Amino acid sequence: MTNCVFCDIAHGDAPSTTVLDTEDVLAFLDIRPISRGHVLVIPKRHSTDLDTLEPALGGAVFAAGQRISRAIRRSDLRSDGANLVVNDGKAAFQTVFHTHLHVVPRWTGDKLRFARGFVTRRLRAPEETAAAIRDGLVRLAAEDADHAG
Ligand code: 5GP
Ligand code: ZN
Repeated sequence: MTNCVFCDIAHGDAPSTTVLDTEDVLAFLDIRPISRGHVLVIPKRHSTDLDTLEPALGGAVFAAGQRISRAIRRSDLRSDGANLVVNDGKAAFQTVFHTHLHVVPRWTGDKLRFARGFVTRRLRAPEETAAAIRDGLVRLAAEDADHAG
């Protein structure tokens, strides 16, 4: 265990509902999601904020977030878009000081539900949600293979 909860998650010392796990990057469900399928993407190597994040690793984090966002559109969650956000520093409401990218799925006309999500931030059916996202990633990979072939 460390004094960083996301390092503990990255090292497998704290639980998380994982959607993507690569050599450099881990993506898992936010425990207090703003919308269904709200994912956090982190570099496995600790950095506190954008000042200490290696740009190449930042690239890997964004690439994973981009892929997850595209996967959620193709998943049974059927999102129509997403907000990809980094809260950098206390002034920007960063609360966990291990750099992370939020992927917050959006649906056409979800304004009220989204506003409510900001208040309630309740995690529902995490296993089903994560499974749907992982399935979306499989669909995306199949689509890529189709285009390549
Ligand atoms: P920040 O405001 O720092 O950008 O957001 C931190 C996010 O991490 C919040 O959305 C919060 O719900 C999430 N979070 C905090 N602790 C944990 C945790 O232990 N596990 C998971 N999965 N998410 C966490
Ligand atoms: Zn850390």
